[in-house]
Amino acid sequence: MFLMRLVILLIIVAILLWLLKRLFSAPPEPEQLESTKPENMRQCKYCGVHVPESSILLVREKPYCCQEHADLDQQ
Ligand SMILES: [Zn+2]
Repeated sequence: MFLMRLVILLIIVAILLWLLKRLFSAPPEPEQLESTKPENMRQCKYCGVHVPESSILLVREKPYCCQEHADLDQQ
């Protein structure tokens, strides 16, 4: 009976250690996915800076980083 309780205790300790190891060695996966997510980069026609396609400003089919550069280039 004593041996049985000892084995159960050892199993519980092993599970706890495994859980702790998992908890501390887990890499920040969501952040890694965020940084490696491919996003198309467009170059500002005026200053040449690279801007993600989601925040690019298109004026007459040309990409710009901001309204100011679009206005300056159209002059
Ligand atoms: Zn620009």
